[in-house]
Amino acid sequence: MSDSLAGLGTDGTLLSGWGRTAPTRARVSTPMSSDSLSNLVLESGHRGILARGLGRAYGDAAQNSGGDVADLARFDRIDLDPDTGIAKIGAGVSLDQLLRKVLPLGWFIPVTPGTRQVTIGGAIAADVHGKNHHIDGTFGAHILELELVGADGVYRKLTPQDPAADFWLTVGGMGLTGLITQASMQLLPVTTSSLRVDTERATDLDDLMSRMTSGDDDYRYSVAWIDCVAGGRSLGRGVLTRGDHAKLEELSMADRATALEFDPKVRLGIPNVIPGGLLNRYSISAFNELWYRKAPKSRAGEIQSIGTFFHPLDGVRNWNNAYGPSGFLQYQFVVPMEASDLIRIAIERLRKVPAPSFLAVLKRFGAANPAPLSFPQPGWTLALDIPAAIPGLSVALSELDDLVAAAGGRIYLAKDSRLRPDLLPLMYPRLTEWQSGRARLDPTRRFNSDLARRLLL
Ligand SMILES: Cc1cc2nc3c(=O)[nH]c(=O)nc-3n(C[C@H](O)[C@H](O)[C@H](O)COP(=O)(O)OP(=O)(O)OC[C@H]3O[C@@H](n4cnc5c(N)ncnc54)[C@H](O)[C@@H]3O)c2cc1C
Repeated sequence: MSDSLAGLGTDGTLLSGWGRTAPTRARVSTPMSSDSLSNLVLESGHRGILARGLGRAYGDAAQNSGGDVADLARFDRIDLDPDTGIAKIGAGVSLDQLLRKVLPLGWFIPVTPGTRQVTIGGAIAADVHGKNHHIDGTFGAHILELELVGADGVYRKLTPQDPAADFWLTVGGMGLTGLITQASMQLLPVTTSSLRVDTERATDLDDLMSRMTSGDDDYRYSVAWIDCVAGGRSLGRGVLTRGDHAKLEELSMADRATALEFDPKVRLGIPNVIPGGLLNRYSISAFNELWYRKAPKSRAGEIQSIGTFFHPLDGVRNWNNAYGPSGFLQYQFVVPMEASDLIRIAIERLRKVPAPSFLAVLKRFGAANPAPLSFPQPGWTLALDIPAAIPGLSVALSELDDLVAAAGGRIYLAKDSRLRPDLLPLMYPRLTEWQSGRARLDPTRRFNSDLARRLLL
């Protein structure tokens, strides 16, 4: 046990990110009231305090080794105005809980990431994006007001119009400006809980990217899965799925009576006992081949459920165990449109390792928002899940980091577990602006995390 953990003894809880690499111990509390949360902040020790949601950040963003961690699960109120679609939501509410409450009333969350198992606090702190960034921007762009407990234990309301920009320092601020306790959000009106989806298969990367460039703006949601194992003339082949919310009249007569129903089921779980994991070079290659072949060359107007379209992995509990005890990481970067060749370079470099990925997702981002640490910027973003223990992976990713930074791109802090700190100011040119705002809000760095210490945030 390291010195920093010694004070915690065995009382500390071992916490890791979704990738299950680099776990550390912290003292986890679940405050029941606003007063007890304030006291927790004021009484936190020299390692500080951090909010944690559902731990879906892949790396160490929601860990605070040797310090305090606040689980805001009890901040779980949802108050919806059914006429305006404005919801006041506790920071510990998950998107799954929120959807179950608001969807039957005809409201949808305007930005949803690839899992519903994230909290409102986590979604704001990472300023998450969905398949509709090119149309609707990030999660933070739909927040009307948020409540934050600061380093002095005092509750403050922040709005996007706030002249000190504390709202935008908090959106994407990775929990380092304070503890978000609730937020008001404008929801999106829908008449069904289904999507109308078009699917196309692209034979190589150029084909895929040109389809996305020419057609994405015709759809609210767009995402491409890439077969990163295929090489030669098939390099970058993929399956593009794009869609919009289905209208009532697009459902079959039989389905119209239950048009707004939402009750997705979790089918099974993967135990944490598989020595080498289920996902290795061979199983991933076989999966990718099958997945590509199974997709239709072209299919229009298929009606899909929200779960199938947005959150396919949520159907399997603890699917992260499939990578075995060494865990996995997600490498996600964005580069400006004009540096699109980096997508091909990344796929080629990872094939060379070889570092196979069964989850490789390509999207096009639209405009950035005013938050200095928000990840999305206009350009192409590629996200790949990769087993962590692959020899040579670290060197390859480090080379890619340099190329991404040189091209004016960046990697996503909510996914990161390994970036070199010297690259951060290049990737986030407004880092010093965010740091001076944070120093004003929290001069003694009461709010801290393993990610913040590792990257010298
Ligand atoms: C399968 C999967 C798919 C994903 N898909 C996407 C995607 O499509 N787009 C995307 O953008 N992200 C995606 N993510 C990443 C995920 O959305 C973010 O990491 C999100 O922040 C996780 O939320 P959480 O509640 O689990 O927060 P945690 O992982 O627990 O914490 C993440 C960060 O938020 C901070 N935080 C949490 N709660 C609060 C609070 N109340 N106040 C202040 N700070 C807080 C933490 O301190 C930490 O820095 C995906 C993750 C997984 C596992």
